[in-house]
Amino acid sequence: MPRLLALAVLASVLAASAGASDLWESLFDGRDDSAASGLNAFIAKVRSEAPKPGPRPHDDRYWVTVRVDGGPARTRAAAMGLSIEMVEGGTVSGVADSGTLTRLLQAGLVIESRRPLTGFSAKDFPPADGIYHNYGEIVSELNGLAQAAEGFGAGFSIGTSVQGRAIPGIRLGYPAKDGKPKPAAAFLGTHHAREHLSTEVPLLLARWLVEHAREPRVKKLLETRDVYILPVINPDGVEYDIATGSYKWQRKNMRDNGDGTTGVDLNRNYDFRFGGGGSSDYPGSDTYHGKSAFSEPESRAVRDFVEGLPALKMMVSFHTFSELVMYPWGGADEPISDGRALAAYKAMAGKVSQWNGYRAMQSSELYVATGDTCDWAWASKGVFCLTFELTPKSQWDGGFYPGAGAVAGTFQKNLEPALYLIDLADDPYRAGNAAASAGGAAAAGSSGR
Ligand SMILES: [Zn+2]
Repeated sequence: MPRLLALAVLASVLAASAGASDLWESLFDGRDDSAASGLNAFIAKVRSEAPKPGPRPHDDRYWVTVRVDGGPARTRAAAMGLSIEMVEGGTVSGVADSGTLTRLLQAGLVIESRRPLTGFSAKDFPPADGIYHNYGEIVSELNGLAQAAEGFGAGFSIGTSVQGRAIPGIRLGYPAKDGKPKPAAAFLGTHHAREHLSTEVPLLLARWLVEHAREPRVKKLLETRDVYILPVINPDGVEYDIATGSYKWQRKNMRDNGDGTTGVDLNRNYDFRFGGGGSSDYPGSDTYHGKSAFSEPESRAVRDFVEGLPALKMMVSFHTFSELVMYPWGGADEPISDGRALAAYKAMAGKVSQWNGYRAMQSSELYVATGDTCDWAWASKGVFCLTFELTPKSQWDGGFYPGAGAVAGTFQKNLEPALYLIDLADDPYRAGNAAASAGGAAAAGSSGR
């Protein structure tokens, strides 16, 4: 047995370090149990070998509120390195380090308030947010679900993080009767470490699908679609954020930038319009885009996953917070050029907002931000991609750390949207057709525009 285990570990390590095609062989070979146990062994290995994130010498970041009105002004503030998290009545709030703060002041912007991040007390993980999953718990939950989904589910990894942690996922879907690839939908969580609720929602979606897989509606979905759930793209950042029992407000990955700063903003590291507005050249910024597009193993893993899966038509990238559902472009003010796709995007975002109450909008309406997942997925691969900014609406309702009480309700609100988007995966353009025949119904959800 130990010899078999060692082989499983080796196979998994090879699968993760080899090109995408090897990875996909292990993913699609239908040996669900072996895939799950292989992942388990792999995780056990990489966990024991992963370097422990050291404490930073100091953290000079602040939660700041800046007087900035209008989209273009917000875009300028974002370009100076401010990570905008909240827009409220002529101001924006977000996280800035002291260098960014200096640039904002030099540009003549009025800083209405600032407070060190350490001045906030987290509502949990330590010890009361036990309901949230740390990395080890995410992996065991996925393994447990893969086992429970015998015959229609498999665990897998799309690659490894900077510190060597596997980026785990689960595929759910009954084998196609004709053996052909089925249309696929993917749900990605936690590009940004401190956005823990964006792990919990896709993880609960996986659990819900497994537990309801034999009900007619869900069974039909899983017979005709494949669902890929990747609840944590940035595992190192998550572990760093919760390592000490009080939250670190970590957003980026754990890349050592070599200049005393840590981390690249993974949601600025994709290569469509890389390095443009809303991303920072300055490594200390929370929105630092990295040395080059796809410089980070985590964003490369997502790229390889999408490129290895031509059947993927629909993707959701979960973030927190603000309660928004957003479609491309994020990196430009103009709308996407394909009018039929734009109508479909507007219709599906509008429909989603009728269920979850979130505001539907083009991403850049908030502020321009380049290099994000959905712009790349749409521009480079033609994958329909929505960014959800989950609960809460505001920093003053808990912001990134809304507590254990936010989990169940946020999932419930987003279950119907997820099922609807999975269903659309065969032809997302259908959303626009439905809107055209339903008259003004879809427009109602787009009141934010
Ligand atoms: Zn985010």
